[in-house]
Amino acid sequence: MQCPKCYGDMDKVSDDPVRVDRCSECHGLYFDQLDREILEAIGSETAIDSGDEELGAEYNEMVYVDCPKCDRMMDQRLTDDPVHIRFELCTSCHSTFLDAGELRQYMSAEYIEGFKALLPGE
Ligand SMILES: [Zn+2]
Ligand SMILES: [Zn+2]
Repeated sequence: MQCPKCYGDMDKVSDDPVRVDRCSECHGLYFDQLDREILEAIGSETAIDSGDEELGAEYNEMVYVDCPKCDRMMDQRLTDDPVHIRFELCTSCHSTFLDAGELRQYMSAEYIEGFKALLPGE
């Protein structure tokens, strides 16, 4: 699979609770599917997000990203209240792309509630 942001090669880094691929170039993470339930299951397992957040930040402004599965543009999920969160989510298959460092950041106590609120789920 090719990275939807930089077109680098992606390697599978996890299969449980959901398949996750990491880009060998920008180190962004592509979740085959992500919703609130899956997020709960991932819990504190953020070691797969091994990329450098400064490298990931270079891709923050890239907002037109096609879903590798559906071949349609992914939706921007965005909030600035109380903290700044932005990522790409495909509204059709619920696949999600996070830049390097964003999983670690969004799973932290300060960000987790806002992140959850932007994901599909009950
Ligand atoms: Zn990439
Ligand atoms: Zn999709």
